[in-house]
Amino acid sequence: MQPIRNIAIIAHVDHGKTTLVDKILHFCNLFRENEVQGDLILDSNDLERERGITIFSKNVSVQYKGVKINIIDTPGHADFGGEVERVLKMADGVLLLVDAFEGPMPQTRFVLKKALELGLKPIVVVNKIDKPYARVDYVLKKTESLFLELATIEDQLEFPVIYAVGRKGRVYNALPEDFSTPATVDPLLEKILAHVPGPKTDDQKSFKMVVSALDYDSHLGRMSIGKIHQGVVKTGKKLILTGDPTKIYKADKILISQGLGKVAVAEVGSGDIVTIAGIFESKIGETISE
Ligand code: GDP
Repeated sequence: MQPIRNIAIIAHVDHGKTTLVDKILHFCNLFRENEVQGDLILDSNDLERERGITIFSKNVSVQYKGVKINIIDTPGHADFGGEVERVLKMADGVLLLVDAFEGPMPQTRFVLKKALELGLKPIVVVNKIDKPYARVDYVLKKTESLFLELATIEDQLEFPVIYAVGRKGRVYNALPEDFSTPATVDPLLEKILAHVPGPKTDDQKSFKMVVSALDYDSHLGRMSIGKIHQGVVKTGKKLILTGDPTKIYKADKILISQGLGKVAVAEVGSGDIVTIAGIFESKIGETISE
């Protein structure tokens, strides 16, 4: 199976999450012309558009140096407490994106706390360093004290820092003197490969997955989304919800994220994030197994 990194992204509204993810997608699809770009990808949902905030958790996925990176969106605030935790459980690392003037905001504290409690490896992105009043030192100090308060594992305090002008797709390992270098998000993707561990995998055991999110498709009906904890799922496989083993369902279709869309595949192994159609009565938090 291909190596995988599952990373959640946390940011306060307007700190530039959508723009940065958009640039990562563009960068990784540089040589592919078959992706149709909407305006901003993570915000494509109508309700989100209306309210101007990212509510629903969605995944995008990119290929970088032979590794599949699943980027898991998180709600930027605490109103969705239960959802936050389930979504974060799919990740092994977390990107905290902070505005270079505003710094970390109280609203993201809850989500970051949950992420650190779950032991996720953090990477901090100081974004919008091009702002005329950017105060990177101040923002980093604020971020450090937040981590001092919330970290649960000592090495979470040694988080790598990336500096970004997300809007231009420019990302740096050290604060640059000027921002005129060609656009690349390479340093960020490199950091993800180097600092975020791959998911634990065991394809030999029987298939198990906790439903972290639900989606609906007019043809396929209810779709259960989650990270495969162990085992492999194949199209057509008989599956049960562990709460009621008498009812047998079939994996009508299994899909994985590719860029900003999803593609149907014949099988998916442990560690990857999968969407399964055919479990018509699944609920969030339930376990699907063989
Ligand atoms: P989100 O709410 O976190 O998804 O934020 P968006 O990606 O929608 O960005 C919010 C605003 O910040 C938009 O107007 C972006 O154009 C702007 N923005 C994003 N990245 C940068 C940046 O690197 N520098 C500056 N100055 N503005 C940025």
